[in-house]
Amino acid sequence: MKLVILDRDGVINQDSKAFIKSPAEWIALPGSLEAIARLSQAGWRVVIASNQSGLSRGMFSMETLNAIHAKMRTELAQAGGHIDSVFICPHGPDDGCACRKPKPGMYTDIARRYDVSLKDVPAVGDSLRDLQASVAAGCAPWLVLTGNGQKTLDQGDLPAGTRIVKDLAAFVDSWLEA
Ligand SMILES: [Mg+2]
Ligand SMILES: [Zn+2]
Repeated sequence: MKLVILDRDGVINQDSKAFIKSPAEWIALPGSLEAIARLSQAGWRVVIASNQSGLSRGMFSMETLNAIHAKMRTELAQAGGHIDSVFICPHGPDDGCACRKPKPGMYTDIARRYDVSLKDVPAVGDSLRDLQASVAAGCAPWLVLTGNGQKTLDQGDLPAGTRIVKDLAAFVDSWLEA
């Protein structure tokens, strides 16, 4: 099965230190929806794995998160793309869950849901914890420089084998070319 795992905030949409708390605050990064559409049209299933501790912090409800994702899916459909499923961690940093990145729990849930090995499955993120979770799950880590990505690169200590690309469109260029 052709599978790609994406982080959401800072990869697909603009990130915000104040969290994305409403559909209005969810704003696609330039070219990201078209990039996902190219993956979809090339037969890749695109799955999101996203920490959403704003739920645990009481900053927004699951209903609102669903509305945010409905907006994302609508805009993506208009661009010709599709997200197969969205996996989220609703917990906070002190909840001790197994799913909040850098833990690999969402990735192992994805592997179980799709009954696939994650070996060589590309996982794209903008934060160190995305890369760490990817590596822990056996995925191939890709860093985009959108969102927190430039800061992540500047701070160094990236996991061995991390591929670095400007943005999601550059990832797709590289991935579909390979
Ligand atoms: Mg992110
Ligand atoms: Zn969690």
